[in-house]
Amino acid sequence: NADIAVYKAKESGRNRIVFYNEPMNEDIAKRMYIEKNLWLALVNNEFELYYQPQLDLETDCITGFEALIRWNNSELGMISPDRFISIAEDTHLIIPIGMWVLKTACSFLYKLHQLGYQELNIAVNISMLQLLQEDFVTMVMDTITDAGINAKHLELEITESILMESYETIAGKLKLLRARGINIALDDFGKGYSSLNYLKLLPITTLKIDKGFIDTITDSDKNKSFADLIVNLGKSLNLSVIAEGVETSEQKDYLVKHKCNKMQGYLFSKPLPEYEVVQKMSEKWNKSMRRYKVSDIIA
Ligand code: C2E
Ligand code: MG
Ligand code: MG
Ligand code: MG
Repeated sequence: NADIAVYKAKESGRNRIVFYNEPMNEDIAKRMYIEKNLWLALVNNEFELYYQPQLDLETDCITGFEALIRWNNSELGMISPDRFISIAEDTHLIIPIGMWVLKTACSFLYKLHQLGYQELNIAVNISMLQLLQEDFVTMVMDTITDAGINAKHLELEITESILMESYETIAGKLKLLRARGINIALDDFGKGYSSLNYLKLLPITTLKIDKGFIDTITDSDKNKSFADLIVNLGKSLNLSVIAEGVETSEQKDYLVKHKCNKMQGYLFSKPLPEYEVVQKMSEKWNKSMRRYKVSDIIA
């Protein structure tokens, strides 16, 4: 059986490429390729950050961006994070990769502030493994100091996959970060089953409503009430609520009507590379900025 043979080959670390051309095993072959090349990708600078705008639904202004990693590989092309983040976690490479992400995102935010867009924030996805690192809080604080940005402009996005036994460590670190002014978002909210508990026990500042709820808000009354419920829950806890994956103006209208604070989604923009963000900012998104560029005000 070819599948078993591949796993055996992987275990022994030999003959990895043997089944590469068999379509049936394409997925396994890709996974093996990713495992093998992830470290090299970091060393060779093959990762890239894309940025997706987040909009305030009351003012229609851009409030910031979420940084999303991509792997630009010469053999496989652009590789989505869904393909390699879990592998990076399994191999613990997520720790140096995550550091690179944070550093790159903070430097980009500094650049945007220098361009005059001083109100903008940056949101960075953080893996639980990173949070469990002893020096995580110091690393984050050092990174923002080095980048020259203020803690209040950084938001760390966590998902609910917290290992219960490490819960107290996680909560402690998040509280330290929060005390230093960093915002904490609970990503993919509503997708998991234990979200409510995390909401109660962790110092969360932002709820990100999972795309799954947004996809169906215009479908039926039942689905509508779920999105409503989350918005109201967030409001009653004094959190900022952001809808993820907004693709249609019907969805947006619904969210505006129900006083959701922010949105993010293809309707306004896909995640874009740095140069395109800078370009769009000056050519087209100026109107969607809370403030004029400093240079405009001076002129
Ligand atoms: P996420 O943090 O929940 O990010 C939202 C995902 O939804 C992104 O996928 C984004 O491109 C996509 N998206 C945004 N708006 C729309 C829309 O309107 N329609 C559709 N169909 N999709 C939309 P992406 O970039 O492929 O990232 C997938 C996941 O990978 C992220 O989910 C996050 O969990 C993880 N990830 C991405 N970058 C990083 C990173 O730097 N570090 C870590 N630890 N995880 C990351
Ligand atoms: Mg996220
Ligand atoms: Mg999400
Ligand atoms: Mg996610």
